[in-house]
Amino acid sequence: MPIDPMQPYDDDNIFARILRGEIPARRVYEDDHALAFHDINPLAPSHILVIPKGRYVSWDDFSARASDSEIAGFVRAVGKVARDAGLVAAGYRALANVGGHAGQEVPHLHVHVFGGRPLGPMLA
Ligand code: IMP
Repeated sequence: MPIDPMQPYDDDNIFARILRGEIPARRVYEDDHALAFHDINPLAPSHILVIPKGRYVSWDDFSARASDSEIAGFVRAVGKVARDAGLVAAGYRALANVGGHAGQEVPHLHVHVFGGRPLGPMLA
């Protein structure tokens, strides 16, 4: 069920629980601004989720409310995760679903990093 991108932040969402260490995740990277872990249902050989540590429902919420240092730190973390996974030479895709038309299901901003095979047209 897609989330409402205008909803208030839910501290019990699954990624908040992963951030607090209440639910296990295959973590690949963590710093002051971001945590990255493997998607539980990978859609590509490499499918990593990068989430900010702050309480942001979506990319919309994050881009409107986060501080410049949070935004810079998060964007740098996404790039580092892709580089560390060895995805840059062959190419990769980074995307964030926002709300219903995009099918966002978890109400904590996450950027998907896909790679490891040709990914096809954007909206296929
Ligand atoms: P969305 O559709 O952009 O919201 O993507 C949510 C993603 O979270 C999906 O790709 C799910 O497979 C993934 N996911 C849901 N629960 C977990 C979990 O507990 N660990 C890792 N990934 C998860």
